[in-house]
Amino acid sequence: MHFYIMTLFPEMVMQGLNTSIIGRAMDKGILSIDAVNIRDYAFNKHNSVDDYPYGGGAGMLMQAEPVYQAYKAVEEMLISRRGNVCQEERIPDREEENPRETKKPRVIYLSPQGRTFNQGMAAELAKEQELIFLCGHYEGIDERVVEEIVTDYVSIGDYILTGGELPAMIMVDAISRLVPGVLHNDVSAEFESFQDNLLEYPQYSRPEIWHDKRVPEILLSGHHGNIEKWRREQSVLRTAKLRPDLLEKAELTENERKLLSRDGECGKI
Ligand code: SAM
Repeated sequence: MHFYIMTLFPEMVMQGLNTSIIGRAMDKGILSIDAVNIRDYAFNKHNSVDDYPYGGGAGMLMQAEPVYQAYKAVEEMLISRRGNVCQEERIPDREEENPRETKKPRVIYLSPQGRTFNQGMAAELAKEQELIFLCGHYEGIDERVVEEIVTDYVSIGDYILTGGELPAMIMVDAISRLVPGVLHNDVSAEFESFQDNLLEYPQYSRPEIWHDKRVPEILLSGHHGNIEKWRREQSVLRTAKLRPDLLEKAELTENERKLLSRDGECGKI
């Protein structure tokens, strides 16, 4: 998976992402991240990329042209990478392909006005080979360039940040974990919160007793069937308690519904 991030703060995103699991996946070549500095495409002697909005109003806007030129540069990087991959891997069908004519990459504008990011969206985006992120700053970006290059508008929640860098980092992190080979054990990405619209069950590690609290006996039993059953029940109960909104979309068995009514958590379903 290849990520391209258009930003005014490339060091911020690279420093934030080049560590731990994502950093190791980059070292192994499973992921690559290129942060492109939009300011490199400023077209005035002051190197500025912002200007006043027409019609007045508070704050400044990122101008269309530097964003567009940064995008064109990313497009060239992407085309040249596609060409190299086809040659290195000698993909027979693709050798004849013109990398300029193959699939257009998705360009995601991080914006509080977009669809709210969630695990389902991360899973969908993890199937792409390449993703381009556009980070806004100031009061946003001239609408014309957004209209011209952006395919998806994504928000990380209903609040306003100063820039799109943290949202881009959050998305790259969440998507990367779902790319095969990034996690040490791919199974750990399969059974996590939001899978089947349930939260993950509680987990315990050594010691068996801590602050007088015992690890639930069943987890020490070695009986995998019973452990799975207990974990599923705990997921259902925990979701009812902490995120009842998710349960509305979860597929529950008759027994699980009874479990919830017994537990008094059944208010919403
Ligand atoms: N004036 C814009 C509005 O009201 O919609 C907000 C601009 S915000 C101060 C500057 C930039 O931060 C945005 O262009 C966007 O890239 C990013 N940003 C802020 N909040 C965000 C959020 N919740 N999700 C994604 N990006 C966000």
